[in-house]
Amino acid sequence: MKRTVHSAEVFDAVREKLLQRGVTIEDIAKITYEMQAKYNPELTLADCVESVEAVLRKREIQHAMLVGIELDVLAEKGLLSEPLLSLVQTDEPLFGCDETLAFGSVLGYGSIAVTTFGHLDKEKIGIIRKLDTKIGAGVHTFLDDLVASLAAAASSRIAHRFRDLEEERNGHPQEDVV
Ligand code: MG
Repeated sequence: MKRTVHSAEVFDAVREKLLQRGVTIEDIAKITYEMQAKYNPELTLADCVESVEAVLRKREIQHAMLVGIELDVLAEKGLLSEPLLSLVQTDEPLFGCDETLAFGSVLGYGSIAVTTFGHLDKEKIGIIRKLDTKIGAGVHTFLDDLVASLAAAASSRIAHRFRDLEEERNGHPQEDVV
């Protein structure tokens, strides 16, 4: 019988898989903090953790994470067929599917998510650099881009929520919820 998977179950699975691959929510939140602290002086790391967790509750984000991490793991175990195996194992610069999957998942978070993702793709901040430079064993062809997409989506969410707070303080109700 087909089983319907609740998104809370997928959320737990994604968090567990990230941990298994050496990435904590806090690692991602630190990137978000670096991206947004200059615009929001009141921002805390706890705000960023909350935002990354909120992004990870979105189904499309969860599914992108599962697909990408699974391909990395299969490539690491040599379980993909050629030539895909070599393309993923070597993180071939023109492969492109890793960026496309990650980029697609940020589109629901608006232009700040898109521009932040582009910035992180180039600058490779924090844990992204560690994953990208292949320090230690393991294939992280998809994971570095997916972490960038999570940090970027969480950054956009924070930018919009801080504006909402500002408007509330000024006596206007919150209308633009991300
Ligand atoms: Mg990559």
